[in-house]
Amino acid sequence: MCPAEINTVLRDCPLAYLVWGSHEWHGVQNPVGLDTLKAYHMTLALCARTGGIVLPPVYCGYQTMKPWARFRHTFEFSRELVTQFVYEHLENLYDEGFKAIVVVMGHYGGKHVEAVKEGVARFTEKHRYPRVLAITDYEPASWIDVRGGDHGGKNETSLMMYFRPDLVDLSRLPDEPFTVDGQGCSPDAPEASSEHGAMLAEAFVEQAAPKVSDLLSEAVSGWPASVADGN
Ligand SMILES: [Zn+2]
Repeated sequence: MCPAEINTVLRDCPLAYLVWGSHEWHGVQNPVGLDTLKAYHMTLALCARTGGIVLPPVYCGYQTMKPWARFRHTFEFSRELVTQFVYEHLENLYDEGFKAIVVVMGHYGGKHVEAVKEGVARFTEKHRYPRVLAITDYEPASWIDVRGGDHGGKNETSLMMYFRPDLVDLSRLPDEPFTVDGQGCSPDAPEASSEHGAMLAEAFVEQAAPKVSDLLSEAVSGWPASVADGN
């Protein structure tokens, strides 16, 4: 986007999406960095519904499979870096004038999610506004009992097939998908389809959109007249 386009968004719908993923091996059938690409496309679909902007996605994962299973084609970053990087992104978005910020996580290691949420907490302790929401990309669908989230299995592979069919090749799957070169993905990957991906993507948008719109309304209506009063 050009600066004038960002200014228009800031005036009409001051909502920013920050997509946070990892650079991690996700099966021989999928592109490395799937977590980030998947969450980015899901968030673009959500943003098309709600308005706002989607920032360029961040590939910065903690608790990837690299330290646990020596995964190749995988970058592992420290917890401290992830937390600080999230926090500083939020400070910059606040400084730019966004009133609501949604962090969408495409990588789900439990400790990684904690690190991201700690960065959000560091920010919200300092600032009551903007309003910030941090969710994993499978969470909104879980509100209607649609289970998502795996590791390069049926769900994640399907989402890639739906959004980026050019990047997925199921014919590369071996008989035992979870033991390729000692690196694994969820064993139900052969069941992936773009139709299943479309269902997951739609559930994400349908469930997340009202919650995000509420967050923005709350931020805009409650925004303090003076920054010093509310922050
Ligand atoms: Zn993943």
